[in-house]
Amino acid sequence: MGVKILVIEDNRQNRYLITYLLEHKGYKVLQAVNGIAGIRLSIDERPDLILLDIQLPDMDGYAVAETLTADPTTSNIPIVAVTSYAMVGDREQALSAGCRGYIEKPIDPENFASQIESFLPGNTDTDKGVS
Ligand code: MN
Repeated sequence: MGVKILVIEDNRQNRYLITYLLEHKGYKVLQAVNGIAGIRLSIDERPDLILLDIQLPDMDGYAVAETLTADPTTSNIPIVAVTSYAMVGDREQALSAGCRGYIEKPIDPENFASQIESFLPGNTDTDKGVS
């Protein structure tokens, strides 16, 4: 237990929905409403997973992913892009920016938790002593 997931999402409705679905599964959820706050929280809190919106007010999610993967403090935290962009090539751009995966909006409440579970580090049994 003690899995901590950071949600970087500026849209309140999406943020609430994602948070609700994850907390319902027992995850601890941290929230950031823009890229700068998300990067700061990633460094301070070292979440187990980052869910990253691409359209953010201050910097786009690709730049956030590039910053996080370039920083040794955060480079091994898996990042999953969550975006409504539907254009061809966005998936490739998210992956090349360092995201491990890509989930399209609108979020499917039935399947969202299982979609993100595959991106969590495998050895969640290992108690790192983080509360
Ligand atoms: Mn957004």
